[in-house]
Amino acid sequence: MNCEELIRYLSDYIDRELDEELRADAQEHLATCRNCRVVLDTTQQMIFLYRRTGRRAIPAERRGRLFRRLQEAFQGSGTGTTADQAA
Ligand SMILES: [Zn+2]
Repeated sequence: MNCEELIRYLSDYIDRELDEELRADAQEHLATCRNCRVVLDTTQQMIFLYRRTGRRAIPAERRGRLFRRLQEAFQGSGTGTTADQAA
């Protein structure tokens, strides 16, 4: 699994909706890629904050926007976009 795939699966990974095989792949990538661990942490914190404010989940639309921005950041096509700013 590469970074792009990891980002694509990140939402399902956090929701524990990934196949066992994909989940293992994701964990293997996270073990070796600091960037993706930061993205995972940031996303999990954001979800945690949302839940603390009484919302059950991040709206799908907002989630989609976040992941698109993260993907752009990884592809280097953004203008210095970071995961922090995406949140
Ligand atoms: Zn990565």
